[in-house]
Amino acid sequence: MAERTVEVTSRLGLHARAAANLVRVASKFKSKLTLQRPEGGLEADAKSILSILTLAASYGTDLKLVATGDDEQQALDAIVDLFSRAFDENEKIQPRPSVAVKEELRCQGLGVSDGVVMGRVLRLQKGARDVYRAEIGDGDLERERRRFRAAVRLSRRQLETIKQRAEKELGRGHAYIFDAHLLFLQDAKLTRDVEDYIVKERSNAEWAAKVVGDRLLSIYTQINDEYLRERGSDIEDVIQRLLANLTGEGPKYPNLSEDAVIVSTELLPSTIAELNLDHVKAIATDAGGWTSHMAIIARGLGLTAVVGLRNFYQRTRTGDQVIVDARAGEVILHPAAETIKRYTFTVHEPGPIAPRVNVDDSGPVVTRDGVQISLRANVELPAEFQAVREFGACGVGLFRSEFLLSRPGLMASETEQYEVYKLLAEAAGEDGAVVRLFDVGGEFGPDLKERERNPALGLRAVRFNLHHKQIMRTQVRAILRAAAAGRLSLVVPMVADVADVRLARQVIREEVERLTSESAYFSEVQVGAMIEVPSAVLTAEKIAGEVDFFELGTNDLVQYTLAVDRGNDKVADWFRTLHPAVLYGIDRTLRAASDARIPVIVCGEMASTPAYAVLLAGLGAIDLSMIPAMIPRVRAVLSEIETNEAREVALRCLAAATADEVEELVRIEFKARWPEVFPPNALPK
Ligand code: PEP
Ligand code: MG
Repeated sequence: MAERTVEVTSRLGLHARAAANLVRVASKFKSKLTLQRPEGGLEADAKSILSILTLAASYGTDLKLVATGDDEQQALDAIVDLFSRAFDENEKIQPRPSVAVKEELRCQGLGVSDGVVMGRVLRLQKGARDVYRAEIGDGDLERERRRFRAAVRLSRRQLETIKQRAEKELGRGHAYIFDAHLLFLQDAKLTRDVEDYIVKERSNAEWAAKVVGDRLLSIYTQINDEYLRERGSDIEDVIQRLLANLTGEGPKYPNLSEDAVIVSTELLPSTIAELNLDHVKAIATDAGGWTSHMAIIARGLGLTAVVGLRNFYQRTRTGDQVIVDARAGEVILHPAAETIKRYTFTVHEPGPIAPRVNVDDSGPVVTRDGVQISLRANVELPAEFQAVREFGACGVGLFRSEFLLSRPGLMASETEQYEVYKLLAEAAGEDGAVVRLFDVGGEFGPDLKERERNPALGLRAVRFNLHHKQIMRTQVRAILRAAAAGRLSLVVPMVADVADVRLARQVIREEVERLTSESAYFSEVQVGAMIEVPSAVLTAEKIAGEVDFFELGTNDLVQYTLAVDRGNDKVADWFRTLHPAVLYGIDRTLRAASDARIPVIVCGEMASTPAYAVLLAGLGAIDLSMIPAMIPRVRAVLSEIETNEAREVALRCLAAATADEVEELVRIEFKARWPEVFPPNALPK
């Protein structure tokens, strides 16, 4: 064994290009070659680029080089020589511009939740969710490994082509990085680990590559050296390429460090569903509005989020420092030392519950004039089930079941769904839970079907279900079976009229018959309709005669009544929940239900906003469903008001001509009637 101490003398440290050079030299020798970094107790294989990079050795770092084998002395000499030549790094090679000058950059968007958070950017491309886990049988494990090797080969060919083109167009200095990418692909730390994972976990190749890639990436986001940490993006690139070649869909997939701030152009709700949210601190997206599903989820999970940042995504790199200030609706990229100092005093995780609100309360709230109002929970992910009890919800008013679809990539099996619905029923308890049939389409499901020109008006929700009957049948069966174990009902999303209801009920009836003939253990369920498009509002009386209950989806009702895309920040100013046309639709729906003696659960974001909840109570709503964390706040407000007074205000609002007029009325009237409950900042601006 021979050893020597070497110093990293290249300006940029032992980054990917330098490491690639080191691997090339080390690989010429038979001896085992390791690099040790005494502080931190790190050790790396000098023939593995990924291993070397985990040393995070910046300029001036001392490393111990140990060689064991027949040609140890020659190997040592060659490597020491390479270190002394600073890895043959061309001094003219500049670090990427984002590293050279990092000026503070502030971008204004729309804060859709609470909190001020400081963290590291994790760039996430749209479509990042397509990696799924599948159990592979013994006989097919070899095929999975072959598939993975084929993807590696294809990635290599692609990279070689890119490298040649870069050499021609940008010069050798810039093309060099692709040598490093090529070495990643050869590195046993990646390839062997993926193949081992496939076999050990009986996993499909995509999942194995994702897990191993995530592990590697997570090491990088924790590196202290700014430049080296950024090299995590190089690994990210290679992993994405591999996944793209495996799935044929070009997805991106995240690594999550402890303080990850997800930055994306537009974050699909299903992508959020797939993330390990324990590590996500905040979300910042180019697109989005207050009622986009991403925003709803962020609020539900208590994540700080700013949306509508236009072209923020392209200005970031994974690993960049960022402050997300949801209160000011602002993000600050590369915050200056002064800014960080200022923010250190304000940074706080979101906390939507005011201290005076009692979280322990449960059951319906009773207003001052004795009206009982049920407060239910809207839930998207099993991770939120626990919040139902925690915040005293009267069961689950809306389970957005489509969030289940992200997990296995395409479809959740009947058994998988059954298990989740059973857990849901358990979490909801006596008050029960309403499972919405998949509301796919719109913001959801580009993988389930071809991208449509106008998805919000396309094959969405009930239309999708009726078009893909097998998917619908599977879900209906899972719900019916789970209903035998707890109180569940089912709601059909976005019906346009009673014809949609009849078609949906027909499928449900057929599945009931089938389960009966199979002597399966199941229970029949109540069937409701989501009222969220104008045609359903205008024919609500007809629909009311053929369902057991209504759910009023105010998010879509605003979107479709006002023809304003709920996820498009450019038209956010036109998205006016308090528009008289929307109030009119709500009023009409509530009256139609009351005439037919069926209940209505109001489950859009409107119900989560205390002032709006009062207006809903004024319109006669006695069943509201919302983000669980908002229940204590809404409870506190409703317990302090009189519904007959709210009714007076609501009637005046119904007679207004514009959203501005309604908001002004609410401001004046609420302040005059309930000044303690509604300080100015709790009212519409
Ligand atoms: C709504 O539209 O108000 C609703 C509750 O459903 P979603 O937000 O999931 O469309
Ligand atoms: Mg809706």
